[in-house]
Amino acid sequence: MKRNDFFKIAGLGVLSIPMMSSLSKLGRLAESFEETKKMPVLFLGHGSPMNAIEDNEFVQGFKKQGESLEKPNAILVVSAHWETKGTFVTAMENPRTIHDFGGFPKELFDVQYPAPGHPEFAKELSELIEPKGTVLLDDKWGLDHGSWSVVKHLFPDANIPVLQLSLDYNLSPAEHYALAEQLKSLRKKGVLIVGSGNMVHNLRRVDFSKINEHFGYDWAIEANEKMKEWILADNHQSLIDFRKQGTAFDLAIPTAEHYLPLLYSLALKDDNEELVLFNDEPVAGSLTMTSVRIG
Ligand code: ZN
Repeated sequence: MKRNDFFKIAGLGVLSIPMMSSLSKLGRLAESFEETKKMPVLFLGHGSPMNAIEDNEFVQGFKKQGESLEKPNAILVVSAHWETKGTFVTAMENPRTIHDFGGFPKELFDVQYPAPGHPEFAKELSELIEPKGTVLLDDKWGLDHGSWSVVKHLFPDANIPVLQLSLDYNLSPAEHYALAEQLKSLRKKGVLIVGSGNMVHNLRRVDFSKINEHFGYDWAIEANEKMKEWILADNHQSLIDFRKQGTAFDLAIPTAEHYLPLLYSLALKDDNEELVLFNDEPVAGSLTMTSVRIG
């Protein structure tokens, strides 16, 4: 008997094959992690790598989040600092701490965040995403500073597996959002998903004389305010269409890599779910640290 015939007999004639495959996917994921209550989702404005070793109000904001979270089974970070051809998930046992920056003090280069990986879960994640082969396994990357500089404040003990998902620079913003939506079921497997970037991020326009000041150019404030308005209104389509939003957005997002992790986080939000903003400050003229917690 064909599978379709079986459903007709069982009175479930409308049950589609895609639904079948999503049911079996949940089954596969159970192999690594038990079902949990739904984990929150974060978008963290990471700003300067120095936030890894400084104690300032942004770091306090990250720590506060960490203290209020239940211990996840794993952390999945979508970092602005890992762009690839195709989408990859880190799949090594022990991801290295990557110091992907220059011109900072030795103290920052000395930081290690020796969280384990989780190769089995990486494989399950890659099998979850349709079409098959969309997410490939990586054994070379590790944890870049978009990941460890913030996760270390959430979970200083580095005893929770951390994986990274790369940004495929061939995907459109809408395609990134659609890919992120497929990660939703992981929230109920105790996986904390973290987008790490900056909503407003224009390094060419940074005022280095005001690097530690809460100061934003008019266009930076304008774009940040508009983004917040759309985030709070669940108007994700306008955020996906950021290239159509005029001059302030063009200046705020000269390249998309620091903005796209926000779309990953928002795509994981359920209707009517609680959302709060924190660390909502501009710095050095052309960056905003505005961060989001969903759930
Ligand atoms: Zn960055």
